[in-house]
Amino acid sequence: MSPESVEIRCTQCGAVNRVPAQGVKGKQAVCGRCKAPLGVDAAPVLVTDANFAETVTASPLPVLLDLWAPWCGPCRMVAPVLEQLAREWGGRVRVGKLNVDENPRTAARFGVQSIPTLLVLQEGQEVDRMVGAMPKEAIAQRVEGLIQT
Ligand SMILES: [Zn+2]
Repeated sequence: MSPESVEIRCTQCGAVNRVPAQGVKGKQAVCGRCKAPLGVDAAPVLVTDANFAETVTASPLPVLLDLWAPWCGPCRMVAPVLEQLAREWGGRVRVGKLNVDENPRTAARFGVQSIPTLLVLQEGQEVDRMVGAMPKEAIAQRVEGLIQT
């Protein structure tokens, strides 16, 4: 099943909008009900020690947070997978990236020992973690299993 359209929930009013999968990237789609821009979460969000509360704790969506560093080979393998997932999950799950070298406080707070580590967070609380590079399907399955209510 390759979806030709994706559902994006408006972060402003909660309405679910169906938009063409090809149209989400680049072009700004707007909510059919309230005209707020959609797809703000269609790309990974840069998370830092300083903005963690704002981008993760206050997120209305569950967050998949990638803790990585530029020198880490497996992290570079995971990066394009996360970009794809961010696009597919736009409006359902926020994908964040945190550089552990530049943001040691967050890495220490979650006791992250090795990278890449993927944290699944709801309202800033860890609900799951995946350590090491994993295939896209495995990450998607794990996260989607958590967020289905
Ligand atoms: Zn809306």
